[in-house]
Amino acid sequence: MAPLIEVKNLKKYFVVARTRLGAPKSWLKAVDDVSFTIDRGETLGLVGESGCGKTTVGRTICRLYEPTGGEVLFDGQPVFKLDRREMLAMRRKMQMIFQDPYASLNPRMTVGDIVGEPIDIHRLASSKAERDEMVHELLHTVGLSPEHAARFPHEFSGGQRQRIGVARALAVNPSFIICDEPISALDVSIQAQIINMLEELQEKRGLSYLFIAHDLSMVKHTSRRVAVMYLGKIVELAESVELYRNPLHPYTKALLSAIPIPDPDVERTRHRIILEGDVPSPIDPPAGCRFRGRCSYAMPVCAEQEPPMRDVGDGHHVACHLI
Ligand code: SF4
Repeated sequence: MAPLIEVKNLKKYFVVARTRLGAPKSWLKAVDDVSFTIDRGETLGLVGESGCGKTTVGRTICRLYEPTGGEVLFDGQPVFKLDRREMLAMRRKMQMIFQDPYASLNPRMTVGDIVGEPIDIHRLASSKAERDEMVHELLHTVGLSPEHAARFPHEFSGGQRQRIGVARALAVNPSFIICDEPISALDVSIQAQIINMLEELQEKRGLSYLFIAHDLSMVKHTSRRVAVMYLGKIVELAESVELYRNPLHPYTKALLSAIPIPDPDVERTRHRIILEGDVPSPIDPPAGCRFRGRCSYAMPVCAEQEPPMRDVGDGHHVACHLI
């Protein structure tokens, strides 16, 4: 069966300087030629350090940012070619959950209005009673109660606010949700509850997720496959189990070595890879391999040629001249 989402050579550049006549002079290449697919009912993890472009990928897929290049197919439909009216219909199928549940909820609106807003925009209820019924049902689905509909976001904890964000995303009954670091602003004790809820919803509703995170440990248990991003590019993509067992790219190895292991004996003896230097600027990324300034295996060819993405078998792809 064809994948639900196909992202092909996606690019998103932001203009950072213009000539006196207003023509673009330099660009910040936030996403530079990124390709992947997401199957129906699958979770794809997208991981990388802050500023690597992972959030921009999510926002460009659903056209919160207009793309610079490339293509996104949703169930075979080219998302970037849709007009305004068609895009509104598409937004019913793809939704987004944001990192900061407080900033993403309007503090002046009641929870009932926040969750009910998408129902109003898409005219999904024929009466106020039906709309209220739908809102109560959605609140129940995310573990809140109908009484919460009359309250405001500041009256809730971080975890509850993220549940409100999930209820709002579910209001239009989407088949794909972009989860942009949905648990990184929450207490560790609450993170597992939100992950379990997202997994239950996925099972019941057959949802597909793009799960964006800055840490490989956050996507280990949630994602069937994981893509690792560095400075606007995907450097490795593999099944989750394969990636954790057999990481090939030096950057993936470094990220994995930073995850603490809850066994003091193993933790004491294992080798941690410390990455030297800072992430280079995406305004003027280095030629060849973008990771070469921080890679202890860098060779002359790494400065001359950009490593192509290679399939090393069983769906494991990596972009490194060592492989
Ligand atoms: Fe390191 Fe070269 Fe591989 Fe880049 S291509 S990760 S610089 S070895």
